[in-house]
Amino acid sequence: MKRAFETEVRPARQSITSRYAGQTVVAIGAHPDDLEIGLGGTLAKLQRDGARVVMVVASIPKDFDLRMTEARRGAEVLGCELVFLMPEGPRRLEDIKTCELVSMLDGVVRDYQPAAVFTHSSADFHNDHLLIYNACQPIQRLAYFDLFSYHPTNCRPVPVAFHPKAYVDISDTIEAKMDAIGAHASQFGGRGLDTEMYREFARMQGRMIGVPYAEGLDVGRMQLH
Ligand SMILES: [Zn+2]
Repeated sequence: MKRAFETEVRPARQSITSRYAGQTVVAIGAHPDDLEIGLGGTLAKLQRDGARVVMVVASIPKDFDLRMTEARRGAEVLGCELVFLMPEGPRRLEDIKTCELVSMLDGVVRDYQPAAVFTHSSADFHNDHLLIYNACQPIQRLAYFDLFSYHPTNCRPVPVAFHPKAYVDISDTIEAKMDAIGAHASQFGGRGLDTEMYREFARMQGRMIGVPYAEGLDVGRMQLH
């Protein structure tokens, strides 16, 4: 690969996977497909290298059985565990009181005691994604864990003001990410949309750090040792 920068002096690399190997990380998405789009490559990499990765899908607004099946397939492709926050049936996040949502996410922290939590970004385009971002702020009071936000997730390209503060090299898990996104056929092929923009986007993120593919993260809080 052509050199990305004039000099290639880099800080000593401590990989994200060695940071969380042997520990649990929790990724929270508003709907099926958000986690695969936002950080599927990162989750596959964490799982592959020894972290327990729990994907939490907060709600399924409609097409409940179909989207549950697609979510299971997506998690299976990434090799991650899957938890539905509201497995009883279709619900919209807008219909849930903030205190109820925070209480459910508190339960996730208590149950899994994560070393890191990944959630939506404050820059997201969708209000229901913002509800999850906001509900993830108070859960920080229960325990220390690193908190990150992934890139806003959309099925169509839209302008968002998201500025990553950290990048994960996903060059060796980009295909798993693409396959996991492809598991959500009802959201893409079923609506005449293709998924290539996610590969292109990961390529652009990769260019920022001089690797083939990357995912960008915002940092909510992170302990440096
Ligand atoms: Zn969503």
